[in-house]
Amino acid sequence: MKKRRLLLTACLACGLTLSACAGMSREQMEDWMEGMDGSQTPAAAESGRFNFDTRRVTLNSGYEMPIYGLGTYSLHGEECTGAVTAALENGVRLFDTAHAYGNEVEIGQAIRASGVPREEIFVITKLYPDQFADPEAAIDEALEKLDLGYIDMMLLHHPGDGDAEAYRAMERYAAEGKIRSLGLSNWYIEELEDFLPQISVPPALVQNEIHPYYQENDVIPYIQALGVVVQGWYPLGGRGHTAELLGDPVISQIAAAHGKSSAQVILRWNLQKGVVVIPGSSNPDHIRENTELFDFALTDEEMAQINALDRNEKHDWY
Ligand code: NAP
Repeated sequence: MKKRRLLLTACLACGLTLSACAGMSREQMEDWMEGMDGSQTPAAAESGRFNFDTRRVTLNSGYEMPIYGLGTYSLHGEECTGAVTAALENGVRLFDTAHAYGNEVEIGQAIRASGVPREEIFVITKLYPDQFADPEAAIDEALEKLDLGYIDMMLLHHPGDGDAEAYRAMERYAAEGKIRSLGLSNWYIEELEDFLPQISVPPALVQNEIHPYYQENDVIPYIQALGVVVQGWYPLGGRGHTAELLGDPVISQIAAAHGKSSAQVILRWNLQKGVVVIPGSSNPDHIRENTELFDFALTDEEMAQINALDRNEKHDWY
């Protein structure tokens, strides 16, 4: 595990493809990795660590990303622009969208209208598998719809036919500066083992379903050990599934002890596990509430109590 992380970090520093690295003998690899010691880029060496003062994390791409943001699945039209505007007014600078959400135009509009400097904002969008056959056209479409000059991060939404080709197209756009960081969504250990040797630029982020009832306790440390940041979708259980999670007696009791809401406790639990949160909301009060995560901390015992709620209960199929 440790070696794999070193390998990825070293690949970043020297620019070798992972498959080229994988072709080395064990001795060559060890010599080469020893030679790399001390010559890793500062960004690569720092990657993955959350800074709770700046509320940001440095990615293995060298770019910084906020550790909390707004998810925009199912938000459209004025509901979407209103949510993005409310989020920006409350200091949110990270937005998660996707071709499949059909709202990249609204996200771009609300950001441009806000007057917030572009460089403060971090937008993630995704290519859907039905776009993998012509990834260049799909990336151009996302650039055009968002109309923000560049895309901060692009993910492949799911594994699918042609995914490695699509990722390599994203690598080419990243080399041209049109996309800044690359990542994957709904990739687990087996999928990563299969996928990583086929690409040159390691993913900076993996976005998967994570909430107290579906914790991915095997997958998260595996991804983090690679120097790749983990981001959780459905942090509150997902639209239509939030009532049970927010009303969970253990979470409610911890929330009452801190004078916080259940949502805030769940989001803070994620942050303390090193998982970036992107709760979805169209309600300005909830949007503000979901930013107030830095004036309290969960104790080890409270973290353990929430960890014990895991029941491997996925709320969506992917
Ligand atoms: P979620 O964040 O788990 O839950 C959203 C629900 O929680 C909404 O019904 C929202 O209602 C409610 N809510 C938000 N904040 C609240 C608060 N403080 N108190 C009470 N209720 C609150 O589900 P999600 O939005 O579906 O998932 C989050 C994001 O992950 C998505 O928006 C999307 O960006 C991403 N995602 C990615 C994938 C993938 O395959 N990569 C899949 C699904 C989702 P209100 O609007 O009333 O606040």
